[in-house]
Amino acid sequence: MSHLATDVLVVGAGGAGMYAAIAAARNGAEALLVDKSMISRGGATIMAQMTVAAAVGHQEPDHWTHHLADTIEAGRGLCHEELSAILCREAAERIHEMDRWKVGWARKGGRMTQVMAPGHKVPRCVYVDFLNTGPAVAKCLRTQVAQGSGITRVGGLSIIAVIVRDGQAVGAVGLDVETGEPVTIEAKAVVLAAGGLTKLYRRNSASINMGGDGYALALEAGAELIDMEFVQFFPIGHLAPRLVGMDPIMWDPFRYKLGGRLLNGDMQEFIHRYGASDSGKYTAMRDVTSYAIIKEGEAGRASPHGGAWLSFQHIPERELRAAFGPVIDRLLKNGIDLLKEPVEVAPIAHYHMGGVRVDAEMKTRIAGLYSGGEAVGGANGANRLSGNAITEAFVFGERAGRFAGLYAQNRRQAWDARAAAPVLDRMRAVAARETQGRKWTDSPTGRMLAELQTVMWDQVGLLRTGAKLEAGLARIRAMRAELDRLPFPAETPFNLALLDWHDLRASLLVAESVAVAAIARTESRGAHQREDHEEMDPAQTYNQTVELAGGALRLGKAPVVRYPFQLENAVAAE
Ligand SMILES: Cc1cc2nc3c(=O)[nH]c(=O)nc-3n(C[C@H](O)[C@H](O)[C@H](O)COP(=O)(O)OP(=O)(O)OC[C@H]3O[C@@H](n4cnc5c(N)ncnc54)[C@H](O)[C@@H]3O)c2cc1C
Repeated sequence: MSHLATDVLVVGAGGAGMYAAIAAARNGAEALLVDKSMISRGGATIMAQMTVAAAVGHQEPDHWTHHLADTIEAGRGLCHEELSAILCREAAERIHEMDRWKVGWARKGGRMTQVMAPGHKVPRCVYVDFLNTGPAVAKCLRTQVAQGSGITRVGGLSIIAVIVRDGQAVGAVGLDVETGEPVTIEAKAVVLAAGGLTKLYRRNSASINMGGDGYALALEAGAELIDMEFVQFFPIGHLAPRLVGMDPIMWDPFRYKLGGRLLNGDMQEFIHRYGASDSGKYTAMRDVTSYAIIKEGEAGRASPHGGAWLSFQHIPERELRAAFGPVIDRLLKNGIDLLKEPVEVAPIAHYHMGGVRVDAEMKTRIAGLYSGGEAVGGANGANRLSGNAITEAFVFGERAGRFAGLYAQNRRQAWDARAAAPVLDRMRAVAARETQGRKWTDSPTGRMLAELQTVMWDQVGLLRTGAKLEAGLARIRAMRAELDRLPFPAETPFNLALLDWHDLRASLLVAESVAVAAIARTESRGAHQREDHEEMDPAQTYNQTVELAGGALRLGKAPVVRYPFQLENAVAAE
């Protein structure tokens, strides 16, 4: 069995993890950057095609406190405002740093181009043309990681548990994806940057690696989660006609640049019926638009495949081509001619506002355990503004790496093989259940994941009721028990069924935490919509925490952290 040692172990090599490794290394620590996929190619970051929000003020005068005010408004009273303030304040610094690293932000006349996005009051979102933001960001950070000293990269290593001794994180245990063997890692600090959980839902924009591992790792290490009930559904995920080789949420950049009319099955605009306005522009927030599309469908006014129409037919071809160049031809190859026909769109699970509970240094309540990126909860409250997630990956990733690096300085390793023994025993027991000599026509773990995704979509999804949530929770709990008896094929190398088993174990725990939090929040707020409690309840203006206590999930309430200064004072002071 392999054993590795480092100062700072960073789990997950998306935008947050790569920034964390860079920051740990430039603060004097050795960093080990691991990912269950290939470094920088596994999670959401490389898939993002749109924009990054930061008050750089290149398009119109802007200030981070205005970005903060918009973020807090979108969060429906639940933002951890200290985290939100950090997010907005440090965003521009990260954007400029990446500009110096030649990420290639779109520019006009020497200034970065910034576009409007729903909920932002000024054009604030930078991007890389054409639909290339995520790949460009991933490449830029990958290059920095490769060129910097003090960072070791290990792909194909899935972290299964953080090892805690005497209340302190001392390392982790991983599964070598190729060999199926355990790997132990001693570290003075651990950063969880393993991304979000949207793979838990049947319709999602996720990659295969976004099953919520980071949350499960945090829970089992003794840290708390926050706001788990708030899963963001992206309103205009592609629905029809068939679209191959393109991102299902690609219609967002079209709307940033060109507007586009959102119509119901009767070809009428409808957002105004739900308290927002859009009229060909792109201003209604995500939670409202998702809700409106579902409600129009329930009223019998859906598009043919059960969503809404999105039309760009009124936009001249010259403008379409100027905005999206080669993308228009890729659409034509898919048989989609935007000049001639609208497309159908519908909500899709896209982002998670909740996550690991951290303080301003990205520190959990476990000494030496940090978190960054989408894995962190709180900054976006009950609803996230578009563009804030990549910003969060940069800002919180950088901070998590920086503070973990500083923490690791002058500390000794405190690894203790005995603390890792129960995890290793469990891994061996699971591997021993591999079933030899049977011909497998389908994978039991694959079937179970598909069922979990259906349960989450149908019962813990966009429109919730107490009865649906309770039924979903009961099924998730039963599946957790079934998982312990599940057989799977013995295959080497690359026993993906073994990896799936560990993924499912984490996903079921995380799914349960979403369900229990959603049951307890008996109101509708932001992305959490209860049909049996349709109004927002001011008495429930608190964050919900989740922890593991004696093997069971326990909910708590935490007062919302408010930003300590008046915004105006902050503006004046700068
Ligand atoms: C299709 C799509 C488009 C998007 N577009 C935008 C946009 O335009 N603007 C915006 O602001 N936001 C966007 N988002 C959201 C945003 O991209 C993410 O919130 C952000 O990139 C998350 O970065 P991260 O580093 O925290 O996580 P990720 O980039 O998801 O990286 C997490 C990494 O952790 C690894 N990992 C997971 N579990 C383990 C484990 N157990 N062991 C080891 N490694 C593990 C994964 O393989 C992955 O590489 C988009 C998301 C998607 C899915």
